[in-house]
This record gives sequence, C-alpha cells and structure tokens, in this order.
Amino acid sequence: MSATTPIRDQDTRAPAPAMKWWGWGERDVEFTHEDKPGLAPFIREALGVDVTRAGGGLPAFAALQIPEPQLPEALRAALETVSDVSTDAHDRVVHGRGKSLRDLVRQRRGELGRLPDAVVRPADEAGVEAVVRAVLDADAVLIPFGGGTSISGSLEPPAGESRPVISLDLSRLAKVLDVDPVARLARVQAGALGPDLERQLAERGWTLGHFPDSFSHSTLGGWIATRSSGMQSDRYGDIAELTRAVRVATPSGMLATRPVPATSTGPSVREMVLGSEGRLGVITEATVHVRRLPAERVILGYLFPTWEASLAAMRDIAASEASPSVTRVSDSYETAFSFATRKQPTALDKLKSTALQTFLKRRKGFDVSKMCLSFIGYEGTGSHVAAQRKLTGKIVSSHGGLCIGASPGELYDQKKFDTPYIRDFLLDRGTLADVSETAAPWSALGPLYDAVTADARAAFAELGVRGYIMCHLSHSYHAGACLYFTFAFEPRAGAEELEQYARVKSAIQQAFVDNGATLSHHHAVGTEHAEWLEQDLSAPGVTMLRALFDGVDPGHNLNPGKIV
Ligand SMILES: Cc1cc2nc3c(=O)[nH]c(=O)nc-3n(C[C@H](O)[C@H](O)[C@H](O)COP(=O)(O)OP(=O)(O)OC[C@H]3O[C@@H](n4cnc5c(N)ncnc54)[C@H](O)[C@@H]3O)c2cc1C
Repeated sequence: MSATTPIRDQDTRAPAPAMKWWGWGERDVEFTHEDKPGLAPFIREALGVDVTRAGGGLPAFAALQIPEPQLPEALRAALETVSDVSTDAHDRVVHGRGKSLRDLVRQRRGELGRLPDAVVRPADEAGVEAVVRAVLDADAVLIPFGGGTSISGSLEPPAGESRPVISLDLSRLAKVLDVDPVARLARVQAGALGPDLERQLAERGWTLGHFPDSFSHSTLGGWIATRSSGMQSDRYGDIAELTRAVRVATPSGMLATRPVPATSTGPSVREMVLGSEGRLGVITEATVHVRRLPAERVILGYLFPTWEASLAAMRDIAASEASPSVTRVSDSYETAFSFATRKQPTALDKLKSTALQTFLKRRKGFDVSKMCLSFIGYEGTGSHVAAQRKLTGKIVSSHGGLCIGASPGELYDQKKFDTPYIRDFLLDRGTLADVSETAAPWSALGPLYDAVTADARAAFAELGVRGYIMCHLSHSYHAGACLYFTFAFEPRAGAEELEQYARVKSAIQQAFVDNGATLSHHHAVGTEHAEWLEQDLSAPGVTMLRALFDGVDPGHNLNPGKIV
C-alpha cells in the first residue's frame, strides 16, 4: 500500500476531512497492483479486467451540484448555543452517507442524495443532550455520525425528507474517562476512533480487543449502534458482549444502564441500544470490558486440503478446550486471491514456495487448486500460547492440515486494515466489488456456502458477466460461525450498474435467509438489508422493533427509515 499515483480529490477549500468524500480512507493512501506481480494476471483471468490500465476520472469536488442547506434561523441559533454549526459543503457531503458500494458508486457519479443541512460537533454529553432537545423542539431530523464507515446505508437521510437534517458528529467525545482495574471495566466516550481508543487504553496497560477491518476510521458508538464484530472476537467477544453499560441521550432524557455483569430486569434495555443505528438516541458513553495487554501474541498460517476439511477443523476447535483469539479460513477461491496479492517474492521465498508446493502435492496429497489458507491467532502468557498452539495443531492435523509458520500470519496482521482500499482501486477501473456476511449454526454452514456461491454464480450468468465469489469463515462461537463472502464483476455496458449489482447482492442475501442464516452477522440492517428483516426475525419480531422505535421517538426525528 503506498501513494504511487496522485490522489484526484481536487477540493482544496474545505478543512481536511476524516475520509475521502468519494472512497475509503485517507487522501494520500491508494492501493496499487504494481508491487504485487501476481495480482493483475489473476484479475484478468478471474474477471476479464485489465487493472494495469489507468483508473477512470472522478468528478472534481467543485463540479458537484450541492444544494443550499435549509437551516431555519431559530434552529441554527439554538444549535449555536451548544456547538459549532458547520454548513460547509465538503462537511455536508462527507457526512451524507457511509461507505457501502452503493454509496461510493453514487458519490463518484456526483449523485449526492439528500445531504444533511448542517453538521454539529458538541464537545460533551451535555452538548449532545442539548442538540437532541433543539432538534426535537424544531421537529427536525438528527443522524448520529461516528466514523462514517457504515456499509449498510445507516447514515443517509431519506430521499424525500423535507425537515431540516442535522448530522451529529461525535468526534469531540473521544476520551477514555476512567479505568476500573478491579472490575476490568473502562468508561469511554462514544466518539473515540479505534486507534485513539486503543492508544489511550494501552498507555494504562489495557486493551478493548475490538479490531474490525474498519478499525482505523470507526468509533465505539458506531460499533455499538451496529453490533460490530472485530477480528479477535473469538477471545474478546463481539462489541455486544464487550459493552456492559451505555449512556444515551434520548427524547425522554438521559438513559443510563448499570455496568453489572448480569441482570434480571426484564428485556434488556442495553441490548435494545445495541444495533439501534441512532433510532433510539445518541450514545454518549459506554462502559466496556478491558483486558491486560497480552504478553505474547502470534498469528500462525495453516493450510487445509479442502474447504470441507477446514470447516470441520474450525468446528472442532470451537468445541475443544482451545481458545484461540482468531480463527479464520478462506475457501480455495479466496486462498488463490490471497496468494495473488503477495508482494514480489525474494529468491529464497520462491525456493521455499516451490519446496512447499512439492511437499503438499507429493507427501500430503494436496490438490493445490483446492487448498484453503487459514490464520489462527493466540494471545496470553507464553505458556498459555504454547499450550493452545499444541492443542490446535493436533486438531488441524487430524483434518489433514499443516502449519506453515508465522510469516503469513504476520503479513496478514500488518495488511488487514489496508484491504478496504482495494474496492476503490477496482471501482476506478469499472469493476464492482462488495461483501455480504452472515452467521449460521455449524450444521448449516456447508449447505449455506454451497447455496450462496451457486446463487451468486447463477446471478452472474443471468447478467451475462464474468464474476468471482470467494468466502472465509471467521468469528467462531459455541453454536456456529460467520461466513464472509466477497464478490466482484465488471458490469455489462449499456445497463444500469447498480441494478446489476443489486441482482447479485440480493441473490446472496436471499440465499442467507433461505438457508437458516441471518441477514448480517456484523454489518447491521440500515436500509440496504432491511428488505430481509421480516424473513430473518418473523413478522412479530419486526412489529416489536417498530413499536420500540415509535414509542421512544414518536415524531421519527432520530435517523428515520433505518432498520424497519
Ligand atoms: C471497508 C469496511 C470494512 C468494515 N469492516 C468491518 C468489520 O470488520 N467489522 C464490523 O463490525 N464492521 C465493519 N464494517 C462496517 C462498519 O465499520 C461498522 O458498521 C462500524 O461499526 C460503524 O462505525 P462508525 O463509527 O463508522 O459508525 P457510522 O458509520 O458513523 O454510523 C453507523 C450507524 O451507527 C449510528 N451511530 C454512530 N454513532 C452513534 C452514536 N454515538 N450513537 C447512536 N448511534 C450512532 C449511525 O447513526 C449509523 O446509523 C466495515 C465497513 C467498511 C466500509
């Protein structure tokens, strides 16, 4: 990952935003194929796309049609008593959407949708409460904004919204307020971005252990509001388990739950806030589990002969006394992709790779085209890590797998937060790439995988495009695991590309709910997954959610139109 080509965001008027208005991540970082000799041939073979050609143009920021903000004077005055109020065009564009594929395609076309009229950044909880009050008094709309990494349409105002729309950016609430070392709980403000949060905790010797791929640009409040899951959830838990208590500015005042380890107080109000996507109020603070920084941390690479063998191994690891921090295995298609993204190998690397391939074929009987690459991570004291490695190693070999050492794991660990930039690189070259993820019981994972990949390929065939779908298993639990699919294709010329994208995305999502899986394991509902909610939860489930949102926010002033 390096800035090998000039960034084309031509706006120089606005203050530096957190992220590109048209894509993922920082302005001076771009993905390149040039240092990965296998990537361009791989993509040419898989998708028929030549990524060595230069990327297409983006609209200049100055050329965008940005409607004037509609901010009544009385509301502006009320907001200004408690916060900065920005109506800057760049600020409004950056806060208008998240980073789903649909978001990025429309941004790049200059189709900005219904932008917020103003962005406010209160400095503290009292300021957040006052903003909520002011917005409700004016019958306006309030959309909480964490890092803006939503991938399911959770941030965009409804297209026809006629009331003023205010985006409440939580970036000034970014402190770790307190660590209780006895309870191993930390009170943290909701706007803390991943790296800042971990830095503040690490200074005191602690970690939250929540590392989603979007870690660098997402916030604690956003994680809670979307039920996020991080890379090391096997050890630390998803954000739902890590969050012990919340403070939320709601229409009826400050909601505060207690940081007790468990409680019998009726249906869990804390759980109602988890995944609420801003519809119940603004999370200002949470009390979260923290752990001591581990003495040792290692991620090892493993190879399995087939996808079936690797699924069985992951299931057996979850059922065993082993407790790795990461269990992840790619199908053969994602394995081939991972190998294609390797950097220029040294002569020694080439030698080792040839020796390994010969060993796999001759001694282990692997069909190299079917093999699956896995990463398993261990954390804790030296003796704990050693014991875990031994136990897991036995299970891996009982399924025909073998350990290939620490270097692939180290590479994966270093590069994981760079992966999101690939989507923009492909979009620049007219290729759509996106993800859909789900969770299901262990017994359902095999048939689910077969159904999803078959339905996606049928959708590619129906569209008449050459597509690619690949998958990995990650986030293992007692009863099942998450399957995470990535798909890509170059849309046919002459037909609306987002309709072609929707055809494939819908086929995958429908296969999830038709095969006993959930519509999303950790990307939330937003607007993009709402269509499948009733099939996932049943009609009474949706009625309950609707009653909750209507009861708390009868005027539909808080992020309307999301989830239901
Ligand atoms: C490239 C990429 C990789 C990703 N990888 C992962 C991953 O590995 N794991 C994962 O779980 N997700 C992942 N996501 C999805 C996304 O990062 C998560 O949904 C994340 O939790 C959103 O956090 P945020 O701070 O960016 O929230 P935002 O995108 O700003 O907001 C998301 C939703 O939460 C609401 N919200 C935000 N803050 C608050 C608050 N304080 N109070 C109330 N509501 C609030 C918003 O109104 C919105 O509805 C990824 C997304 C992208 C684009």
